[in-house]
Amino acid sequence: MSQPVDLFKKLTSHCKEYGFIYQSSEIYDGLSAVYDYGPYGVELKNNIKQYWWMAMVQMHENIVGIDAAIFMHPKTWKASGHVDAFNDPLVDNKDSKKRYRADQLIEGAMDKMLEKAEKEVEKAKKRFGDSFDETLYRQTNDRVVKYTEQASEANRRMNEALKTGDMAALKALIEELEIADPETGSRNWTDVRMFNLMFNTQLGNIAGEEGKLYLRPETAQGIFVNFLNVQKTTRQKLPFGIAQIGKAFRNEIVARQFIFRMREFEQMEMQFFIKPGTQQEWYDYWKQARLKWHLALGTPAEKLRFHDHENLAHYADAAVDIQFQFPFGFKELEGIHSRTDFDLSSHQDLSNKKLQYFDPETNENYVPYVLETSIGCDRMFLALMSHALQEEVVGDDEGNTRDVLKLHPALAPVKCAVMPLKRNEPALVDKAKAIFNQLKFSFQCQYDDTGSIGKLYRRQDAIGTPYCITVDFETLENDTVTVRERDSMVQERVSIDKVAGIVQERVDMKQLFV
Ligand code: ATP
Repeated sequence: MSQPVDLFKKLTSHCKEYGFIYQSSEIYDGLSAVYDYGPYGVELKNNIKQYWWMAMVQMHENIVGIDAAIFMHPKTWKASGHVDAFNDPLVDNKDSKKRYRADQLIEGAMDKMLEKAEKEVEKAKKRFGDSFDETLYRQTNDRVVKYTEQASEANRRMNEALKTGDMAALKALIEELEIADPETGSRNWTDVRMFNLMFNTQLGNIAGEEGKLYLRPETAQGIFVNFLNVQKTTRQKLPFGIAQIGKAFRNEIVARQFIFRMREFEQMEMQFFIKPGTQQEWYDYWKQARLKWHLALGTPAEKLRFHDHENLAHYADAAVDIQFQFPFGFKELEGIHSRTDFDLSSHQDLSNKKLQYFDPETNENYVPYVLETSIGCDRMFLALMSHALQEEVVGDDEGNTRDVLKLHPALAPVKCAVMPLKRNEPALVDKAKAIFNQLKFSFQCQYDDTGSIGKLYRRQDAIGTPYCITVDFETLENDTVTVRERDSMVQERVSIDKVAGIVQERVDMKQLFV
């Protein structure tokens, strides 16, 4: 299909045209990096959330859910480290007045170096054919070695500067690598400075700093401060987890990749409380469990990969991302973090309230360690859409194409559409509506008679509906309909009373767990 950049453009316009996602406040020219979900978008998003909740809460006896408030006591964010350390390095271009994240500019330059090395390897592969020894070539070819070493040296210096908070070193690196504004080519940069990503607002009845409230930048802290409430009220024993789905807010510096990086977004997070010393075992367990969750949806394994963090956040002793191959490259989709006892201990210190677990096996009190899985619902949405949207030639005619959204049926926004073969035949319309009125009790269903049958099929393909049920003249004679399957486009004639069962079997979320 099309080139990646075209694919991304196509994807964003598809999302709008078919009612998945709209720019927020579009009539006022939109609000940057804020989006609204339309009728099909909200269904897909709810299904993603349901799949995650089922996998985490319903399928684990030792994981329970909560729904904490977005506003929290301001001390929460002091304890969590967000007030002091939730910063990104920002740099402005003096000519274009555009703002960038310094680390992302440097990463972009590193990617280009690595791309150059890959191109050399690809060229050599073609030149030498079967006799090509790729490993040897990578180790010995001057140009490949030079580009790879340059990238790794830039990476080392960037990580060092980020770790020590040395903004001047970041600026120097940008200059040495001759990084230009990606949009204008200008190299006229300001100094790099740190920028806190939390939005704040003011509590109504308290003036000044005292009443300063933050919009939560992650849902995790609502879980930590409720750790003992939940443990006591559910009588859970370690290891156990608390899961939550909810909004988070970050004043992102650069937010130009549609719903990949938003200022208001939704997270699905689970904190797993464990005995100190068992973190490696649980880290390995959750890495595999989360990868399995993605693969069950039919996402090809080569589009997913683990990426270890080199630059660990202040709270972590190990961290890995599950990256997905988005149309603009491999990027973080989900994070798995071994958070030690950092959060519970900090809250315990600042609140002066004990946040400890009494271990009945050892008769000891201790602060548990935590293993976190954290995924953005919107990023998951984007990953699914970018893999599912396909342009296909129908039959032998190259000019006859369809856009089809090959989402897993369990996640599809609409499970089946019912349509009369002809919209001006009252008997067909009545029958189709009667079938729709039965099916709607079982799943999200749609009645449609707004166009020719061919157009209706195309529209349902474009929103990912796994089944189309068509009522024709034979239906009136023998109570059978045609059932058209989205991907194969094969139509099967079945009796009306079998339809619900056929659809249910394929759209049931249970099949994602077997
Ligand atoms: P990034 O490096 O991309 O900024 P992060 O490492 O800051 O992400 P985490 O703090 O680990 O992200 O957040 C967990 C998950 O929340 C991410 O894996 C991602 O799916 C999602 N997420 C984070 N920031 C955003 C955002 N601005 N818009 C949409 N989703 C986000």
